[in-house]
Order: sequence, then structure tokens, then C-alpha cells
Amino acid sequence: MVNHSSYRGRLAPSPTGHLHLGHARTFWIAQERARAAGGALILRNDDIDSTRFRLDFVDSMLEDLRWLGLSWSEGPDLGGPYAPYNQSARRAHYRAALGQLHATGWIFPCTRSRRDVLEAIGAPHEGAGADDEPVYPREFRPPANAPLRALDETIAVNWRFRVPDGEELVFDDARFGAQRAVTGRDFGDFLVWRKDDVPSYQLACMVDDAAMGITEVVRGADLIKSTFRQLLLYRALGCTPPSFYHCPLMNDDKGERLAKRHDALSLRTLRERGVTPASIIAGFATGSPA
Ligand code: GLU
Repeated sequence: MVNHSSYRGRLAPSPTGHLHLGHARTFWIAQERARAAGGALILRNDDIDSTRFRLDFVDSMLEDLRWLGLSWSEGPDLGGPYAPYNQSARRAHYRAALGQLHATGWIFPCTRSRRDVLEAIGAPHEGAGADDEPVYPREFRPPANAPLRALDETIAVNWRFRVPDGEELVFDDARFGAQRAVTGRDFGDFLVWRKDDVPSYQLACMVDDAAMGITEVVRGADLIKSTFRQLLLYRALGCTPPSFYHCPLMNDDKGERLAKRHDALSLRTLRERGVTPASIIAGFATGSPA
């Protein structure tokens, strides 16, 4: 008998390149956890960042996932009660959340460049972790009681979330156990909306996970710091956060983390070389790459 639970998990790939083994393993774990809980798995297409995503990657991404044997019950290809499942079609949700953060004074406009920030904290411009935000210097933020400029219809300034000063945040990760971070030290005032009028990953992800009733987020351990940022957004927006399971990252044979530039380990390439989904999944189950 199928045991239907209220567990709702999600796969949230970004169409910025071909999926590689690391993504595939994370998505496979997400599916296994949804299955074990007798719950639902949804597919969300994280195509909000139009400067980085490519339309042709969307189809190949879904096809790669299906080839590997993954399936979902709601998604851009299937529809469902929380449609649309393409982030590019969900701007109104993010904009409403931004309005709420603005009305409650959680955000401020910032005209400093990334270079200003890196200089102020004495960090090298290169290698500062392109996928992570440097800690925003406190002296750059306007005082909490400064009058807040209005949100323009078209946004042309970066808006940042004002993180509390030195608060210890803790969450219990289902894979790694208790995780801790101190606000303002481990991460600072982070972007919620960019000056090119694009919501940040943090905001879009949190708004969608909340709106789509996700009960457990399964994703790569590279996003643990983002989880702390998103927990602050849940709190500011009065939403209950899901549980989190972060998957260990996969390295290549030189010990470097897999990235979309590793075409040799993309599902496409493996498939062309005749590797079967079964052998890939067998590798995940035993912890070794295919
Ligand atoms: N779309 C994000 C990515 O591919 C992951 C989002 C998430 O799982 O929270 O990196």
C-alpha cells in the first residue's frame, strides 16, 4: 500500500550548463528521500537569472534527469497546483516578498560595487568565491532609522537584507547535524534584488520553497551558508522554514569540486560514451563516481 505523506521535496536545477554527476547524485538523493517518506517530488526550473541561463539547457536538463530515471509529479512540463514552476514566470511572487521586506524595514538600497566591498574588507578581487558573497562591511549600511527610499517599478539599485548583528543561528541538518553561523561574521547583508532588476537566488528560492509547500530541501553542501541567509528571510517574512538535508559535494579525480565546466563528467558525455543510468546510480549507492 502506498503511504502518502505530506513530505514535499524538490529538484531545483538551474539551466546554466549541462548537469554533471554531482547534480545527478544530489537529485537522486532528493528522490530517494521523497520516496522513503512516501511523499511528493516536484521539479522547479531555477531560470530566474536571465544573464546566466540558456533556453536550450532547459530541455536538455529535463531530458537528462528523465534519462537517469528520475521522475517528479509537478513541474514545468507537467503543471500542478503550484504552477508556474519556472522561476522566470514567478516574478510577481518575489516582488511581493520584496515589498513586504521593504515595508517592514528589513532591506536597504546599496550603491556600492562588489569591488568597493572587496576593497573595504581587504579581500583579493580574484578567488573571493564567485558563488559566495563577501561579508558586507557594516560601515556601508545606512543607519536603521534612516528614511528608506521607495521601491521603484523597475529596480536599478541593489537591495540588501540587513542581517542582525552577531546573532548565532543554528539549524539541524539531516545529513550533517547541527550547523552554526554568526550573522555579520560568517556572512553579511546579502542581496535580495539586483540592480539589473533580477531577484537574488536567496529570495527567489526561499519564496518558492515556502509558496510550494516544500517540507524538506535537499541540495549540495555548498549552499549551507545560503541556508542561513534563507532562514533569516523565512523569519522576516513570517514563514515556517522546511527541514534541510545537504549532500556532500563530489570531487573529480584531482580532488577539485565538480562544476558545470567539467564537461567530461556531464551526464550528456557519459551517456554518449555508453555509460548506463544503472551504473551511474550504482556508483551513487556505493559512494564512488561512475
Ligand atoms: N538552482 C540552484 C542551483 O542549481 C540550487 C537551488 C537550491 O537547491 O536551493 O545551484
